[in-house]
This record gives sequence, C-alpha cells and structure tokens, in this order.
Amino acid sequence: MNKHDFYINGDWVKSESPDKLNVINPVTEESIAQISLGNKQDVDKAVKAARQSFELYSQTSVDYRLDLLTTIREIYKQRLGDVAHAIQTEMGAPEHLAYGAQAKVGLAHLKAAIEALKSHETEYKYGDFIVRHEPIGVCGLITPWNWPINQVLSKLAPCLATGCTAILKPSEIAPLSSMVICEILNEAKVPKGVFNLINGTGTVVGEAMSSHPGIDMMSFTGSTRAGIAVAKASADSVKRVSQELGGKSANIILNDELFEKSIKKGVLECMENSGQSCNSPTRMLVPICRKDEAYSIAKETAESIYPGGPNNETTTIGPLVSDIQFEKVQKLIQVGINEGAKLITGGTGKPEGLTKGYYVKPTVFGDVSNDMKIAQEEIFGPVLSIIPYENIDNAISIANDTDYGLAAYVSGNSHEQLNSIARRLRAGQIHLNYGSGGAKAPFGGYKQSGNGREKDKWGLEEFLEVKAIIGI
Ligand code: NAD
Repeated sequence: MNKHDFYINGDWVKSESPDKLNVINPVTEESIAQISLGNKQDVDKAVKAARQSFELYSQTSVDYRLDLLTTIREIYKQRLGDVAHAIQTEMGAPEHLAYGAQAKVGLAHLKAAIEALKSHETEYKYGDFIVRHEPIGVCGLITPWNWPINQVLSKLAPCLATGCTAILKPSEIAPLSSMVICEILNEAKVPKGVFNLINGTGTVVGEAMSSHPGIDMMSFTGSTRAGIAVAKASADSVKRVSQELGGKSANIILNDELFEKSIKKGVLECMENSGQSCNSPTRMLVPICRKDEAYSIAKETAESIYPGGPNNETTTIGPLVSDIQFEKVQKLIQVGINEGAKLITGGTGKPEGLTKGYYVKPTVFGDVSNDMKIAQEEIFGPVLSIIPYENIDNAISIANDTDYGLAAYVSGNSHEQLNSIARRLRAGQIHLNYGSGGAKAPFGGYKQSGNGREKDKWGLEEFLEVKAIIGI
C-alpha cells in the first residue's frame, strides 16, 4: 500500500522529504504499507494551513462544532471496520481487542467531547467581570502506537470541539489507522486546514512541531523520555505542553475473600493488549503471608493466556508491536532473572509453536523487591512483577515509591478500606476492584507520568485559554 502522502489544507499532498518507512505487521513481520517520513518543510506547510484556518474556525459557533463532531461520529461508525482492520494490521491486536475496544473507544471519545461541549460554559459573568474560555490556537498532537486511535481521538475530539486547529503526527510505527481518520474527517467536510496529518519520526517531525513558533500548544502522549524532549523543544516558544506519559502502576491486593478473584483479574489486566498499555497494573502487591498462594493463582492465570494471530480463535493476546519492542522486553525479562526475582512462569524466548511474529511468553515474577529494575522500569510487555508487602502502610509506601503516577489499583471487599487507601495513593486514576473510568473520568498522571488531563470537560480545558474582560 502506498501511503506516502500527507493530509494538509484539505488535500493529500506529497512530502517534501524523500525518506520512507515500511509499516510492519507484527504478526507476519512483513511490510504492509510504506509511509513518507516528513521534514521541517512539511511541518511549515501544515502550520501555515492550520494558522490560516484558525482565524475562521475559532469563531465558529458551538452548534456548528457540535454538528461537525456528530457528523464525524456518524461516519466513524460506518468506518469502524476499516479503523479496526488498520489497527489490527499495524499492531497485531486480536479481533476482540481491535474491534471491541481499540476501534470502538473512538466513538466513546467523540461522544464524550460532544457531551462536554454541550454543557461547557464558554462565557460567564464572575463578580464585575466576564470570564471567557477561548481556543488556544494551533495544536500539535503527537501520539504513540499502543492504543493508536484511543490516543488520537482523546486529543482530536476536544481539540476540534473547542475551536482549535490541529496537526497530528501519529506514531510512525502504527500510522495507518490515523490515515483512516483523515478520510473520515475529509468526508465529514472538516474545513480545509483545520485538521492536518504529517507522518514522520519524533526526532525530525516531532521536534520541528515542538519548536515551531507557529504552534501554540503541544499535546503529547508517549514515553517520559520523549515527553521531556517535547517540553524542552517547546520551551523557547513558551507554548503549553500537555504530557501523557509512561506508568508503572501498583495493584494492591487486600487479604480477604476477594483475594483469588483479584489476583486473576490483575494478571489478565496486566497482560491485556500484550502488556502494552500505559496504565497496566504491572506491579502486583500481595500480603506476604499469602504470597505462595498468590504465585500459584498468578501462574495458572498467566498460563491460560494464549498469544497468537488475530484470526486464531484461541488467541487472547497478540504479538508486541515491533522487533525493537520485542528485544527490549526480552532484555528486561533477563534482567529480572539476573536480579534474582523468582520466575514463576514465562521467561525469555517465544511461546511454543510461534516462530514468526513478535510474540512474548506471558511472564510472572515473584519475590520482586521494589528497587529492582523490573519493579521500577516500564517494560511494556506481558510481564508482571509481584511484590510481597507486610501491612497496608507498607503496601501504600511501596505503591508510591516510583517515579511514575499514572494509575493505581486496589482490590478487596471493604469499600471503606478501599476508599481510604485510594486517598493515600499518588496517581491520577485509582481503580477500586478494577472499576473503569471509560471515556469520562479524567485521565492523566502525577509525577513523571505527565501533567495533562484528558477526557470529558478536563480534556476540553486542556485546549482552552482563559480570558477576563474587566470594566464591563
Ligand atoms: P515514544 O515516546 O517512543 O513515541 C511516542 C510518540 O512520540 C511517537 O509519535 C514518536 O514518534 C514521538 N516522539 C519520539 N521522540 C520524540 C521527540 N524527541 N520529539 C517529539 N516526538 C517524539 O512512545 P511509544 O513507544 O510510541 O509508546 C509507548 C509509550 O507511551 C509508553 O511509555 C506508554 O506508557 C506511553 N503512553 C502513555 C499514555 C498516557 O496516556 N499516559 C498512553 C499511551 C501510551
């Protein structure tokens, strides 16, 4: 598939750069498409289009933007299969995940932005002045590959809802689903220049966007490493930077009758999407007096997870996205073994019978101490670290002893105890008994997991400036 063109000012245009990249299907390890890797001139063109269109688009009425988003959602619904297929081929997600979650979540984000916009107060009187919320301007959106459309629409829906214009640079590893989004926006007749897409690497296109004086805000999702680079490159132009970064989320399992169920669920959640979710519960904290029981439940559960191809009926998880990711995870599994953690199941090498594809064995480590690398570093594969704790205070202290703070989980049957622990955990989302916030609960991190908040009204606020009109 030739996917060389970029979407700029309402047209598919040639890149200014001759560089190309093959998009690899991680199931077959074969190239399924080729994209262009853009450069600074491409970014300049997109910024010019987005700046020009901002003049008119920022002045459109809320009703106009509600209609536009509703049309986009209707077309997205019709193209759901195409979005899911693109996600499946670019990142190897199994059928149930690509269709049931990865693609469908886009509908939820569009709906949440529509609902949030309906109830958002754009202008109000406050004492003897007026407060207005106005679109911040041209926004650079940079996204990762692991939930490609979830991330794109978490940004794009509120960005368009508020009257901002956008330049999207999706992950170069999984760019195809975003190109379907372009087609959807084109069909919805989003005005020229309001939405633009450039493919490319982070170090060229991402850096050119972050440092561009014509971009007012960068909304970034990805690793903490790249988030820092975006913030540094943005500093000279004093643009707003919203960061949604990595995580190493703790999962405290309480010692009560939900113990077995909570461990099973914790293992499954950790390994979902092949462990490639920023908010996965990757550090499971279990009471030390029941650690052996925890290990055997975790082992049995992990061994019931079947890595495999998307069309295989027994598949529960797909491969990792790339050879680079595969090698990184293999290395970290070996680090865990070398550090002296107890390998309960899994380990290095591919699962039996899977020679092609970037598959990793669902792996569980026990007797992990929180200072080990496998407890501190984001592995981004189906690898769980189980850490025994002495008592609740100790569990909370281990949970908070991390550079990250994206999510945390607590499971048990006393709601009073769960709620009390939740208030002491330093993370942006706390899941009690694996509750889900869907597309509405504010999403973002403490500490090095970032400074942004996405979803619903918090997502809108990211893209708005606050103006006071005084002396009315
Ligand atoms: P990554 O940081 O390597 O890449 C993410 C995006 O940033 C890509 O589009 C990439 O091209 C771009 N990029 C890379 N270097 C850049 C630079 N110097 N300047 C500008 N852009 C740059 O991350 P990834 O491997 O694609 O995704 C996995 C990471 O994303 C994990 O750390 C995961 O936790 C994180 N993530 C966070 C959230 C969240 O909401 N907090 C959600 C999903 C993923």
